[in-house]
Amino acid sequence: MTRKVVVVGAGVVGAACAFHAASAGLDVTVTDRGPVGAGTTSRGEGNVLLSDKAPGPELALARLSRTLWDEAGQELGPDTLELEAKGGLVVASGVENLAALQEFAARQETAGVRVERVDRVRDLEPHLAPDIPGGVHYPQDAQVQPVLAAAALLRAAVGRGARFHPGEVAGAVT
Ligand SMILES: Cc1cc2nc3c(=O)[nH]c(=O)nc-3n(C[C@H](O)[C@H](O)[C@H](O)COP(=O)(O)OP(=O)(O)OC[C@H]3O[C@@H](n4cnc5c(N)ncnc54)[C@H](O)[C@@H]3O)c2cc1C
Repeated sequence: MTRKVVVVGAGVVGAACAFHAASAGLDVTVTDRGPVGAGTTSRGEGNVLLSDKAPGPELALARLSRTLWDEAGQELGPDTLELEAKGGLVVASGVENLAALQEFAARQETAGVRVERVDRVRDLEPHLAPDIPGGVHYPQDAQVQPVLAAAALLRAAVGRGARFHPGEVAGAVT
């Protein structure tokens, strides 16, 4: 028997759940009371960051998420998500902060994150203040366009058999 899944909300989270559930062969129904991606998703910047996560469950989740975005980009086409693997640069505002940043990055590296120590930060970002002492480049940091991503994931879910029903889910389950 095919398991049935109901996803309430077609934001980026609901659309991603629908995409992966439909890809796994589940019987998926998605509903939303408004336009696709018009909730918090429409306000998000779409950063997919490893750089700001300390080793632990959140970083592990972010690493998995980063892999899943790459896979979705390959399956759906990076342009449909505006997936851009542009990397991130974190800089230290003073020498005293640089040691802490580098120590944090070393722990992230041990946890599997790619990190690159940068001494000449203005080679990467020429508009930085000249007295910035250094930073760390995170080549895996990326960005998606959240509304496009939600729409593309939902479209792909529908292509894999999911149904989309506009409407509000109301009432309590007793
Ligand atoms: C300014 C800002 C910047 C951000 N930047 C980032 C970032 O760079 N990187 C990052 O990872 N995250 C970022 N976030 C967070 C990110 O945007 C949210 O975590 C994400 O959009 C949540 O998606 P969602 O699908 O859970 O929620 P939503 O996008 O809010 O989707 C929920 C949907 O459910 C629907 N709904 C709700 N109740 C019902 C109901 N009863 N019946 C039917 N439909 C219903 C709504 O209409 C809505 O479409 C940012 C957030 C903000 C505000």
